[in-house]
Amino acid sequence: MNYRQYMSKEDSEKLFQEYRGIYQTGTPKINLDTTLVKKDGAKVYVEISVFLVRDSSGQPAGFRGIIRDISVRKRMEEELKESVQRYRQLSIIDDLTQLYNSRYFYNQIDLEVDRSNRYRHALSLLLLDIDHFKVYNDTYGHLEGDKVLVRIGEVIKSCLRKMDTAYRYGGEEFTVILPETNGLEAVKVSERIRSSIEKEVFSPESGKEVNVTISIGVTEYITGERISALVERADRAMYVSKENGRNRISTLFK
Ligand code: GH3
Ligand code: MG
Ligand code: MG
Repeated sequence: MNYRQYMSKEDSEKLFQEYRGIYQTGTPKINLDTTLVKKDGAKVYVEISVFLVRDSSGQPAGFRGIIRDISVRKRMEEELKESVQRYRQLSIIDDLTQLYNSRYFYNQIDLEVDRSNRYRHALSLLLLDIDHFKVYNDTYGHLEGDKVLVRIGEVIKSCLRKMDTAYRYGGEEFTVILPETNGLEAVKVSERIRSSIEKEVFSPESGKEVNVTISIGVTEYITGERISALVERADRAMYVSKENGRNRISTLFK
């Protein structure tokens, strides 16, 4: 059979160019990766090693080589790639809320701070902490508390724009990275989150309706400063919200 009959158009064209190169230069090729198509349409991954055969006068007379079926190896490589991908996902996602975890937060804030320093783009950070959450847990139990965490994670996410990312920073604390966002805009996002959470109704016991609030600290990155300084400032801003009565937003810009 002509190879075009058992290869896709794209692969056969690529392989043709390889063979042409071998024909023109006389240099063999080892382990060319390509695919063949079986009678039933299934793909076979192969590896081709091929050299030019010459006749007694030194003229090219044809090709000779080995085609090895590497489908099993390819499949294993694919599976490995998928599982690496899956584990990478697992290692950056918080089990309970499905938000990113603090490990990933530090990863991303690092990148964003770099970008902000390089391009002088604004960058804002929010730190959110649930108010009196210990009381909620003590009153209704840890499982009900967990439900609140999950829901608050969803609400936070729903208030964000495409480039913003939310993280479960610790137990009942969350962070939000707002790239290319100044403090004023960050306050608007915070207000959206604060009021949305305040409106949520939780029902930890049948017939009971409870509201939960959060305190937010807002800050903006100052060019050149360390990440720890940025996070500490957001934390201090959050504590100002606590001291002033909770369920509010406070800003600290230096
Ligand atoms: P404040 O308004 O000052 O923040 O009061 P608070 O009670 O929220 O703060 P505190 O730091 O005293 O307590 C935090 C509580 O958060 C303690 C713990 O019961 C709860 N918490 C932390 N992580 C989890 C979690 O994964 N699940 C549940 N259900 N509760 C958690
Ligand atoms: Mg806390
Ligand atoms: Mg709290």
